[in-house]
Amino acid sequence: MAVVLRQKVSAKILGERGIMLDKKLAKQFPPVGKEFTLKYGDVQDKVCIEVRDCECMGPERPHQHPFLPLGAIATALPWGAMRRIVIVKVSANTYEVRPEVKGGQK
Ligand SMILES: [Zn+2]
Repeated sequence: MAVVLRQKVSAKILGERGIMLDKKLAKQFPPVGKEFTLKYGDVQDKVCIEVRDCECMGPERPHQHPFLPLGAIATALPWGAMRRIVIVKVSANTYEVRPEVKGGQK
């Protein structure tokens, strides 16, 4: 098992119910449009990487980012200030979201 993503749970993620990825990070997940299972505790959902328009470099430089929707996981997570999560790849088609444990998961 490998940690593919460490992420602070922000208001942006909560609002968008998903995580914008850079291209390098997106390679850790199945390709755009390919369904996989995302788990958090007893909750699981089928999601796939999407492509979203983005203006993070200003409206004059529109571009796109891969986006990981959290699906049902978004509501299940114990959201809170400064909460951190990791996403672990448990098999080719299954990824698990876990609270980040300090000094824990490798
Ligand atoms: Zn951007």
